[in-house]
Amino acid sequence: MTVSKIFFYDTKPYDQQAFDEANSNFGFDIKYCPAHLNANTASLSAGYPVICAFVNDTVDSETIRILKECHVTLIALRSAGYNNVDLKAAYGNIHVVRVPAYSPHAVAEHAAALILTLNRKTHKAYYRTRDGNFSINGFMGFDMYQKTIGIVGTGKIGRCLIDIALGFGMNVLAYDKFPDLDYAKEKNIQYVALSELYQRSDVISLHCPLSKETHHLINAESIRQMKKGVILINTSRGKIIETGSLIQGLKDKQIGAAGLDVYEEESEYFFEDLSSEMISDDVLARLLTFPNVLITSHQGFFTKEAISNIATTTLTNIKEFFDGGFLKNEICYQCDSTCLKKEGKRCF
Ligand code: NAD
Repeated sequence: MTVSKIFFYDTKPYDQQAFDEANSNFGFDIKYCPAHLNANTASLSAGYPVICAFVNDTVDSETIRILKECHVTLIALRSAGYNNVDLKAAYGNIHVVRVPAYSPHAVAEHAAALILTLNRKTHKAYYRTRDGNFSINGFMGFDMYQKTIGIVGTGKIGRCLIDIALGFGMNVLAYDKFPDLDYAKEKNIQYVALSELYQRSDVISLHCPLSKETHHLINAESIRQMKKGVILINTSRGKIIETGSLIQGLKDKQIGAAGLDVYEEESEYFFEDLSSEMISDDVLARLLTFPNVLITSHQGFFTKEAISNIATTTLTNIKEFFDGGFLKNEICYQCDSTCLKKEGKRCF
């Protein structure tokens, strides 16, 4: 029997460890590669019918064209988000699967960690006490209890954070393109218009996908509507925030603090150790100067449970593909309208 081959882009040692463990139940022939997938590296996939890509790989039409030339027939994303894939270019040529849910708790708990850290300044306290400085000047926070959190996007992750916020005794305002009123009733939370959410929230956390509609959703105008001193959290996708406006909002003290697990131009920086290099991105460098900005390097997903689920689901998606059956985690640009998935078939 021939062993099915998979080419993995953008892999780190922790990916390899998790996938090797999961692969003991599948037996695929996996080639791990540290390079990002883009038009320059796509031809490395020659001889592999399946490639596996991650959040900062560039799967645009040119990359897809080369993958097709290399006879790749499946792109297996080991992520939930798929904004980096040109689904239209892939349609009819290469199937695309993803991991729709692996641990919404992981990301929501990370968002909660960013909120608490920024509120109580534990990121600053850590360094102060280690330096023998036991002063608490400048560390005053506020009770989360009875404050208002605005959640943009009440899908899997947004809902986990809502549960956490309710545990703190917070009031929850929510906005979603497709509000679920039964859910709101059950949780005793309120869906409101975005402008109202901006105006009333002490903390705002973004949990909608990146799309044409949400690109730069947070901009000068939306920031202007927010409560002065709001804590803004983004664990979703960097391009949802227009970073220049965020910086202006921080300088004006309109934004009290920002917790960012994602950044517009993260792909060159995040996941890499660049501690011996200078940062040539002036916007990122400016963000890093604010004491009230906490940047983490897209690590929201990074828990033992999530990584293990990602590995198992990705390999299951690939097995379903090789077995020739229905691909339950397939996505295509027609999924919202005419795609064959509704009939229990592959998207095309
Ligand atoms: P989900 O699909 O379960 O929920 C997304 C929600 O956003 C849905 O309720 C949807 O109706 C809503 N939505 C869609 N368009 C919207 C719009 N224009 N305005 C407001 N709401 C809109 O997704 P999820 O699993 O909760 O993940 C949310 C996002 O988190 C992902 O798209 C991804 O970008 C990001 N994510 C980040 C990490 C990380 O490590 N930081 C990990 C996983 C996911």
